[in-house]
Amino acid sequence: AFFDLNAFKDPTLARGLIDSINRLAPKRETTLMEVCGTHTVAIARNGIRTLMPDTVRLASGPGCPVCVTANRDIDAIIALAKVPGIIIATFGDMTRVPGSTSSLLKEQAAGADVRIVYSPLDALSIARENPDREVVFVGVGFETTTPLVAMSIKRAAAEGLRNFSVIGAHKNMPGALEVIVNDPALSLDALILPGHVSTIIGTAPYEFLAREYGIPGVITGFEPLDVLQGIAMILRQLHEGRAEIEIAYARGVMPQGNPVALAAIDEVFETVSATWRGLGEIPGSGYRIRPEFAAFDALERFSPAVEPTQEPKGCRCGDVLRAVIAPNECPLFRKVCTPENPVGPCMVSGEGSCAAYYRYY
Ligand code: SF4
Repeated sequence: AFFDLNAFKDPTLARGLIDSINRLAPKRETTLMEVCGTHTVAIARNGIRTLMPDTVRLASGPGCPVCVTANRDIDAIIALAKVPGIIIATFGDMTRVPGSTSSLLKEQAAGADVRIVYSPLDALSIARENPDREVVFVGVGFETTTPLVAMSIKRAAAEGLRNFSVIGAHKNMPGALEVIVNDPALSLDALILPGHVSTIIGTAPYEFLAREYGIPGVITGFEPLDVLQGIAMILRQLHEGRAEIEIAYARGVMPQGNPVALAAIDEVFETVSATWRGLGEIPGSGYRIRPEFAAFDALERFSPAVEPTQEPKGCRCGDVLRAVIAPNECPLFRKVCTPENPVGPCMVSGEGSCAAYYRYY
């Protein structure tokens, strides 16, 4: 790992924050979890772990959407890619994630039509341009992507676009955090919460963590300075014996979130129980397309034959997502499992902890 103060946009401010962090260093071992994969990458890339006092451990959490997608869901996506006439439109990361026996990339090599898009709106365009084909968008992600997917479904409905549908594996974070704070294998003291998701959902969904579990949280952005500021604010709360959900990312996050985006999600999706890799089934943590929009639900429309699920052999991605082990404690890390030849999704995704460790440690 490396650390270069000049890499921070404002080295003087960075130095001040690092001094605060050291001044507020807790006496006992303290674990802060960065929930979001984008934070994991920012922390790894900027050597922020090396700046922490000896008593502070930064653990990576379950906020990489591709990583937490259950193998059964990945298998269902791959099964859809095999249905003749279907175009799969997906974010790039998803193509390389290994399912039980295949991946979208392998299916593409075998002749499936898999296209990489940057937004569900791109998938809508493909559907308009290919009226004789079925276009299925792979919907994974948290509330940063769910509103856009909801809007694209609404737009398809308004346009009468009948050849567009979505296979949805969207999730929300608070239920997963409750599982993690109750996990006896991990003693968690505080949470570094993601700015972009919180722009949509606000602070309310996290409040119970402070109120019921006494776990402080700070919502912060993804610049290295934002991360340092979030950590300093958390250590101050711990130092003062407070547990609150605070916002360090005031330029982007309002306590009430974004009502327009939340209304779009609510119009198109209902919350359901969802299975997370590593965390199991969590009530209320997933989104399913409402019956009114069932015509846009790819699983309802095509009922693909999904093979029996097998987990990737030897992969500890589930334990990595719960921060029970660090990526380099997985026996396959770097030896067998590399970004070129990933065994599990935590090594595939740009936001995955294993990929971040591989690149920066
Ligand atoms: Fe899985 Fe590879 Fe990470 Fe090990 S290093 S947990 S095999 S993704």
